[in-house]
Amino acid sequence: MSRVPERLGQYREGRLANKVSTTDWVRRDAEVVWHGFTQMSTFATNSPIVVERGEGRELIDVEGRRYLDAISSVWMMTLGHRVPELDDALRDQIDRIAHSTMLGHGNVATIELAEDLAARLPMEDPHLLFAADGAAAVEQALKIAFQYWVNLGVEGRTGYLAFGGAYHGDTIGSISVGAGGFGTDLFDPLRFEVIHAPGFDDPNCIDVACDLIQVYRDRLAAVIAEPLVQGAAGIHVRQPEEFRMLAEACRANDVLLICDEIAVGFGRTGSLFASQRCGIRPDLLTMGKGITGGYLPMSATAANRRVYDAFLGEDLGPRTLYHGHSYAGNALAAAVARRHLQLIEEWGVLANVEARSAELSAALAERVLPLPQVREVRQQGFMVGVELAPPSEGMRWGRQVSAACVERGVLIRPLGDVIVSVPMLTTTPEEIDRIIDTIAAAITSAAT
Ligand SMILES: *Cc1c(COP(=O)(O)O)cnc(C)c1O
Repeated sequence: MSRVPERLGQYREGRLANKVSTTDWVRRDAEVVWHGFTQMSTFATNSPIVVERGEGRELIDVEGRRYLDAISSVWMMTLGHRVPELDDALRDQIDRIAHSTMLGHGNVATIELAEDLAARLPMEDPHLLFAADGAAAVEQALKIAFQYWVNLGVEGRTGYLAFGGAYHGDTIGSISVGAGGFGTDLFDPLRFEVIHAPGFDDPNCIDVACDLIQVYRDRLAAVIAEPLVQGAAGIHVRQPEEFRMLAEACRANDVLLICDEIAVGFGRTGSLFASQRCGIRPDLLTMGKGITGGYLPMSATAANRRVYDAFLGEDLGPRTLYHGHSYAGNALAAAVARRHLQLIEEWGVLANVEARSAELSAALAERVLPLPQVREVRQQGFMVGVELAPPSEGMRWGRQVSAACVERGVLIRPLGDVIVSVPMLTTTPEEIDRIIDTIAAAITSAAT
């Protein structure tokens, strides 16, 4: 037997084995895993990628294919996958302790992180209540705002004002202040009542919100808003001055302001916190997603001095906040989050976001906006939404264009017919080019 066919045979077998591999992993996945926001009966037919490794800004699937992660694993990753400094921080902490409870006790990693965050938050004397998911941080903020008025002995302050299009997470409290949509309307009977201003797609939304705050001032515990960008609504942007007006209306009417920075926080819009860019100082601020650079589940609710002080009282007394999550203040997450904060500064990450987002907007204006299939391009920093203009409903252009991007090795996930890109904060000029070229090519090829 000659050696050549043998080699060929091996090669073919190898490829076959690999080919089976994605299909096989998807089959195993669908056998036991239930994916969020995903119809499982069609999960396998929508060409899911199965990730085995990551490297920098790329994901590597079980067949060794590489994808530029242009959505930062849905707005989570900041510096990249497998950042040596973050890996080291994790290893270093794991040799000390992984977790100890925050209920009545402390741990060094969490104290150090809280100190570093407190020094950077645009708030007066913040105290941080940690949790693991963004929705839990929102839930905490809503409950704290509610109890704040109870503790002060003020009656009737039980309501919230939120914006149309808002997304604050998927727990019952956070969907109540959210706008619904995404097929979640069936939960309406579970939602508590909330006063809604229009969404950020309406240029009058902040004016209307300010009027509503004045009208309902005696009934509102708090206003909740995503500063600068409503992400899940399809990347809708409002200007810093408008949030200053909103904050002023809250102050003038003595209503608490909750800024949900879970998506915009940690540099995504070019400043560490979007509230800073707006020049506002919220009473409560929620963080999640990028807090650990996308490494580990961690979220937090920061409360300013005014709010925090209202909870001080006698031991076991009624002013205490009776709320806490088991994984709150996880030491591994805290150690990574702290190193992450340092790296944002050491590497000049925010300056990169500023410089690259200028290139991003120039490239979008030149290569994407002129396409006949595009209705609008929206951007703030590294949050980009390209709204397609399908000639009729039900054409699933968003899904098709995203699939065409993934085929070209750039991971994109749509929100309806909005193509969303949220690149990692360390993205290079070449990668910006590649993302824009890929989106433009995908739109031209798929949206027909
Ligand atoms: C993602 C997100 C949440 C929810 O965070 P989870 O960690 O997914 O629960 C809340 N608010 C905003 C603005 C978000 O983008």
